[in-house]
Amino acid sequence: MKIKIPVHLKTSLKSSFFRLAYLYSRINKSYFPNDEFGICSICGNFSKFWFNGLFNAESKVVCSCKWDEEFTYNINLINSLHCGYCMAKFRVRAAAQSLLDYFWQGKIKFINELVQKLKNNSIKWSALETSSSDGIFSNYEIPSIIKSEYYDDVPRGNFKGNIKSEDLQNLTFDDNSFDCIISLDVLEHIPDPWIAFSEIKRVLKPKGAAIITVPIDRRNQYTKKLADINGGKINHIEPPSYHSDPLRKEGALVFTNFGTDIQQLLTSKNFNASVKEYRNKSGTAYQYVIMIFK
Ligand SMILES: [Zn+2]
Repeated sequence: MKIKIPVHLKTSLKSSFFRLAYLYSRINKSYFPNDEFGICSICGNFSKFWFNGLFNAESKVVCSCKWDEEFTYNINLINSLHCGYCMAKFRVRAAAQSLLDYFWQGKIKFINELVQKLKNNSIKWSALETSSSDGIFSNYEIPSIIKSEYYDDVPRGNFKGNIKSEDLQNLTFDDNSFDCIISLDVLEHIPDPWIAFSEIKRVLKPKGAAIITVPIDRRNQYTKKLADINGGKINHIEPPSYHSDPLRKEGALVFTNFGTDIQQLLTSKNFNASVKEYRNKSGTAYQYVIMIFK
């Protein structure tokens, strides 16, 4: 028998776990003075954004990449500064802000507000979010928002619980299916990200937009391929790098290290794209959000 844990219980368990971790990190003084206050673009609360000292002060926990101290510091900031209410990290809040700005230009201010409007059918809008556990809609369940993951053990198009098994290089959806595709820190792990960008554009409806993040070091001008797949086998061009992955113990292999040329590369491949940099209040963290328009 399968036991289904409701989303609100999962959120509350996650939140209790994080609170304990924060408490522990403060007892150990293993945090940086980066906490700040602000309004959360996900839940809408005026909230304290916590820097997570326990998991992020030591970069090795986050990534096995050979990132230097400066970039690791930014990665740690954007992967924490968690909202004290809904736990959304800075990266997710920046992506949510770009979504709200593009689709509602200030008329809907928080994701929570958008979700209520979708629930009472006062607006019609659909989305595919490709990172189910750590995304804009992770704390919500609404029929018009499909969540997906790349599973090794679930056939493409099938569901594992509420999550659909999808490969971004070969989506199971028809052309013009969604108003929005959200893909946060996924494309660097895809053997051919350019096929994924095309697939994303294909399933977007006209006037739709994709909200995409990938880790970009602002000092890194050029996008570089670290690995590819040849005859079904992984071919390492550079020493392998892995990012932590909730689904895989060994982590997820990085195929592409994106640079600040991403906008130029997308334009040269005929994508209508924009790249915007988001900053936190104190300006210590930066997050690039890539948008693809149709
Ligand atoms: Zn929040």
